[in-house]
Amino acid sequence: MSENLVARFDVGLFDLDGVCYLGPNPVIHAPENIREAIGAGMRQAYVTNNAGRTPAAMAAQLDSLGIPATAANVISSGQVGARMLAQRIPPGSKVLVLGTDALRADVQREGLLVVESSDDEPVAVIQGFSPEIDWLRMSEAALAIRAGALYLATNLDSTIPRDRGLMIGNGSIAAAISNSTGVIPLSAGKPEPEIFEIAARMMKAERPFAIGDNLDTDIQGAVAAKMPVLHVLTGLATARDVVLAPAIQRPTFLADDLRSLNEPYPEINHDGHTVVVEDTRAWWDGTMHVEKKGEELRLPNVLGMNVYRALAHAAWEAADRGVPLETLGEAIPEFNVSREV
Ligand SMILES: [Mg+2]
Repeated sequence: MSENLVARFDVGLFDLDGVCYLGPNPVIHAPENIREAIGAGMRQAYVTNNAGRTPAAMAAQLDSLGIPATAANVISSGQVGARMLAQRIPPGSKVLVLGTDALRADVQREGLLVVESSDDEPVAVIQGFSPEIDWLRMSEAALAIRAGALYLATNLDSTIPRDRGLMIGNGSIAAAISNSTGVIPLSAGKPEPEIFEIAARMMKAERPFAIGDNLDTDIQGAVAAKMPVLHVLTGLATARDVVLAPAIQRPTFLADDLRSLNEPYPEINHDGHTVVVEDTRAWWDGTMHVEKKGEELRLPNVLGMNVYRALAHAAWEAADRGVPLETLGEAIPEFNVSREV
C-alpha cells in the first residue's frame, strides 16, 4: 500500500543541474537518497542537454560528489542527437560536426563519418555547444545546410549558466545559423521527448520515470514522452511556478527534494472539484480553499508537502475548467514548502 516512490519504477532518469548538483556542490539530500534508491533496486541514468563534455567526465564529477555514476549512466543530448541522425540517414553517411570532440565521438559511435568541410558534401550537420564555435565554423555549417544537409542541434537552450551569469547557449548559436539559412534545426535536447525515449531504451527500462527541476525542459519533455516525472524544488522552478504551470508542464509527483524518492507518495483523489490528499482538501470556487483535518486554512506563506500537492492539483483542476492562470495567480501568493508545518 504505502510502498516507496522508487519501488514503482525500475529506472530513474535524473536531470543534473538543480537535481544532483548546483555548481560545484551536491544538492541537499541528493547523494544519500540516490544511493538509497539504488540500494532498493532502482537503476539510474543522468540525462543532460550538455553535449560538450564526455559521459566519462560527467560521471567522474558525479562520483566525486558521492552520486554513483559511470560513463554508461550518463546520457547526453550529443549521444541522443547522434542516435537521431543514425535513425534518419544511412550508415557511413558524412556528418559535419559543429561542436566538441565529445560530440565527434558520439557521431562516430553511431557508425557515421565525421567531416569538417561543406566541400565534403555532408548529408547532415550536428551542432552542440562548444566555446570554440566561431564565424568560420558557423558559416561552414550554413553552407552545408544551404546545400541540403539535414540540420540537428543537440539542444536549443538560449543561454548557458556560467559563474559570471547567463552566456550564449547552443540555441542562440543555432538561431544565428537559422537566421542565415532559413532552416530550423531538429533538436535532441529537452523539452523534446526523444531524449527521454532514447535514454529509456539505452537503459533497457521497463518502467522509467524522470526527475527534474525545470518546468519548460525536464517536465515538459517527460510529459511529451508520456513518462511519469517527479519534480523537486531544489533548482529553478518555485512551488508557485508548479501550481501555476500550464498543462504541458505539470509534473506527476511533487516533492521538496530527493528524500521523496525513498518515501511513499500519497494518492491524489478527486471528489467533484475538490482534490483530496490524505487529510488535506483543496478546491477552487472563485477563491482557493484549503482544508486540513476539517479546518480551513488561510493560505499561509509556508505550506506542508500535502497542502502544496492538494493546492497544485486543485489549481490544475480549475485551470482545466477554464479559470485563467492569471486569475489563479492573483489568488495564490508566493509560498515556501516545508516539512516542519
Ligand atoms: Mg536542471
